[in-house]
Amino acid sequence: MTSFDQGSPIPGTSGANPDASFADDPPMLDLDQVAVQVRSCTSCPLHAGRTNAVPGEGNPNADVMFIGEGPGYQEDRQGRRFVGPAGQLLEGLLASIGTNREEVFTANMVKCRPPGNRDPAPAEMAACTKYLDRQIELVNPKLIVTLGRFALGRYFLGEGITRAGGKLREKDGRLIFPVLHPATVLRAANLRPTMIEDFKAIAEILENASEGPGPELDDSVVSAQQETRLSFVDGPEPPFVSAAPAEISTVNVEEAPRPEQLSMF
Ligand code: SF4
Repeated sequence: MTSFDQGSPIPGTSGANPDASFADDPPMLDLDQVAVQVRSCTSCPLHAGRTNAVPGEGNPNADVMFIGEGPGYQEDRQGRRFVGPAGQLLEGLLASIGTNREEVFTANMVKCRPPGNRDPAPAEMAACTKYLDRQIELVNPKLIVTLGRFALGRYFLGEGITRAGGKLREKDGRLIFPVLHPATVLRAANLRPTMIEDFKAIAEILENASEGPGPELDDSVVSAQQETRLSFVDGPEPPFVSAAPAEISTVNVEEAPRPEQLSMF
């Protein structure tokens, strides 16, 4: 595996195609092989501080895949998802729409916990995207739900959750539905109704996707009401690298303090 320092350009690339530098890595033919490689990965500095890598888990044939940010304290300790407060909230939201953790697939932008729950760095997300890319290919979900602004930035670079949240979009042939990060909702209980409504919408999207023709995409401007509800959630633009060729942003993102005990899944 290739290692590099945080903040360095991705070796062998201009930051546009992280995969190009890992051509010699073993193939990841299934999700188990992805997990094995994640657990031994030293491709970015986050490996040095992890207790356990958290590859992601769930139904290998899931209709919906949730993409979060990175492991929280409890996930790092146990090497599993859904074991912290934010994971428990997500589990409750899944139950509210008649599903559960075994039926969906969940994964993170980075598989190792950033120290102190800090934001993952652009280079760290770029290094780790090879695993997430492969997980998406293998699961091939009907719908991808991005949790929070880092995962949103993977698909819609530079957009904020205020405008993009709760709107079904299509990108690179996949349906993308951005929602708030549950850890954000834990810090702001007034956002809970928004999250509940968004999960109801997820259930409807999946139902429509099963019945075909495809669900109606929403490219309209977000309502003034929603702008008001979410207006403090967005920080500056997310510093993420899309799976598609894109420039790596080096913009720092400010966010509300993250209690150590919060899972960021
Ligand atoms: S965060 Fe991803 S790229 Fe970095 S060491 Fe962990 S598995 Fe490897």
